[in-house]
Amino acid sequence: KSKQPPRPELPELLPGVKNIIAVASGKGGVGKSTVCTNLAVALAQKGYKVGLLDADIFGPSVPKMLGVEDEGPALEKKDGRDLIVPIENYGIKMLSIGFFVKKEDAVVWRGAMAGNALKQLIGDADWGELDYFLIDFPPGTSDIHLTLVQTLPITGAVIVSTPQEVALADARKGISMFTGDKVNVPILGLVENMAWFTPAELPENKYYIFGKEGCKRLAEEQGYVLLGQIPIVQSIREGGDDGQPVALQQNSITGMAFSTLADNLI
Ligand code: ADP
Repeated sequence: KSKQPPRPELPELLPGVKNIIAVASGKGGVGKSTVCTNLAVALAQKGYKVGLLDADIFGPSVPKMLGVEDEGPALEKKDGRDLIVPIENYGIKMLSIGFFVKKEDAVVWRGAMAGNALKQLIGDADWGELDYFLIDFPPGTSDIHLTLVQTLPITGAVIVSTPQEVALADARKGISMFTGDKVNVPILGLVENMAWFTPAELPENKYYIFGKEGCKRLAEEQGYVLLGQIPIVQSIREGGDDGQPVALQQNSITGMAFSTLADNLI
């Protein structure tokens, strides 16, 4: 029997949202935000209504990756309430904790403050009708996770990791954050990011820079789905830095990799 405290019913907080998906990683720098953003774009390109909450308080990078870094969300009055209006780009409604917190301040924020700010971004924003609401979680395990997991009826979690052992050890901890006895969030699958590198002049070669298929093995061992393997590609990094996620290029091989990832999730 689950010891989980009863979660608020979905309609109370996000009345129009069908699926709430946590995108998480054990370790920072494994490409969680990159995968989350490209997954959001891929879903939007398939015609789904997509929202993205950047909850990565330690490094909110989604505004930059979606090319809306210099914008700020407005407020609107709706049914007598002041609501935050998510920023829209590429068919994605997005809010980031980065719009409200200076980066230098984030590190000294106490968990409760961050948790409350995130609750506002969820409950006091006009998210409207969404098929998929993706949440880019902070890396690691913290009380912010617990707040999010206990506040929201999360449909499931996607775990991003690179294939090397140190990242996988943290990914296991990340998984246990969702499957521990206090919470009970299904793991929808694992994404192996930076799975290999293929130089342009050697298109047949794969170099396993961070080790070979570590995530795939972890998925097999634990009985999880491997949603996809994303190689190291310069255009993925560039797309992130330029605010033009590579998933927008649906006909490129890399764009298709994220499209397949989305197909495997839905
Ligand atoms: P995290 O959210 O886990 O901290 P990011 O998504 O911010 O990681 O990625 C860290 C850096 O690595 C970024 O500069 C990003 O563009 C780059 N990156 C992520 N995945 C890939 C990839 N598959 N190929 C090339 N660069 C990548």
